[in-house]
Amino acid sequence: LLSPDGHLGVTIFEEITSLASQTGAINLGQGFPDQDGPQLIKDKVIEAIRDGANQYAPGKGIVSLREAIARHQQRFYGLSLDPEREVLVTTGATEAIAASIMAFAGPGDEVLSFEPFYDSYGAIIALSGAQHITVPLEAPHFQPDLEQLENAFSERTRIVVLNNPHNPSGAVFGREVLERIVELAERHDALIVSDEVYEHLTFGVPHLPIAAMPGAFERTISISSAGKTFSFTGWKIGWASGPADLIAAIRTVKQFLTYSSGTPFQAAVAWGLDQGDDFYAEIATDLARKRDVLTAGLTAAGLSVYLPQGSYFINADVAPLGVQDAAELARKLPELIGVAAIPVSVFCHPAGARRHRSLLRFAFCKRVEVLREAAERLATLG
Ligand code: PMP
Ligand code: GLN
Repeated sequence: LLSPDGHLGVTIFEEITSLASQTGAINLGQGFPDQDGPQLIKDKVIEAIRDGANQYAPGKGIVSLREAIARHQQRFYGLSLDPEREVLVTTGATEAIAASIMAFAGPGDEVLSFEPFYDSYGAIIALSGAQHITVPLEAPHFQPDLEQLENAFSERTRIVVLNNPHNPSGAVFGREVLERIVELAERHDALIVSDEVYEHLTFGVPHLPIAAMPGAFERTISISSAGKTFSFTGWKIGWASGPADLIAAIRTVKQFLTYSSGTPFQAAVAWGLDQGDDFYAEIATDLARKRDVLTAGLTAAGLSVYLPQGSYFINADVAPLGVQDAAELARKLPELIGVAAIPVSVFCHPAGARRHRSLLRFAFCKRVEVLREAAERLATLG
């Protein structure tokens, strides 16, 4: 139930990361950077610990972080939020997603998402007792067919989980898709849970938050995380924002999942969110260069590459190498050439898994020299 490829209990990320460390392979599987975020933000955690920020934080998050999140949403997207009632700090985006789905969906409800989908959506929807309905995204652009999207809605649709920019495909959804989602959600009185953890990781296209589309705010929960923006995936500080009544319900669930989230990390993230525009621009510029290095390596190795517009993942097809089963290849790859990747099929239910059977996902949030070394190893694949 919890893992589409039958590996109960252990996520594919754990499995491939431990294979990578056993074999000493370059880990382009699990998405985490191989360099930490800014030293100044790290110093803020140490300072906060020294200053005694070591006991439970308030359940909804420390005031300075909630205020910084509200400022961030205003500054980048023109969204006005009340930090007291419309912002909730969570233990990573993972908890914000889980608490949102658990707060609003249950047996008899349907929860919609695109497919492939980030693995936790399938697991949490299953745990909530709701049914997971998916709309396929296909190579090369991984954009939804709007008619299929419309047909996927029913009178039981309770939530649409959107992930923009999209993991694993790297697709970024534009205004037309977002407006259609809002229109359909309105028509079916569904909520929108929008996972935007890669909001600052787009290449040459703007990130449009769905909450800013006309009519969207009142039914949208926007989710993000310090893990991706600041390259501190281990801190597990995320957040949800949206209308006060929805945030209050999510907060009730959060109380019984974790109660509150890491106190000293919150202070540091609050400081980090107020960085200047150059800081935010640099994140994307740096990653775009890395994307290009890995794309060149994968292409030279004979894979078909689907260039991402956002996130730090590239999907590549191994069929041109004469390989059909990317999952089988992913389990051998670390041993074979010293590179680890994730099969896209694990982000799918069985029918979707067949559709994406020959795709691998590679993470490029690694140092350029590491990506170059991975490219050399990949070249030995053919
Ligand atoms: N959503 C998506 C789309 C992700 O890729 C990830 C993984 N980093 C998460 C949520 C989880 O974020 P966090 O580590 O902040 O819990
Ligand atoms: N979000 C990361 C990825 O997609 C993994 C996080 C995790 O291991 N759950 O690779």
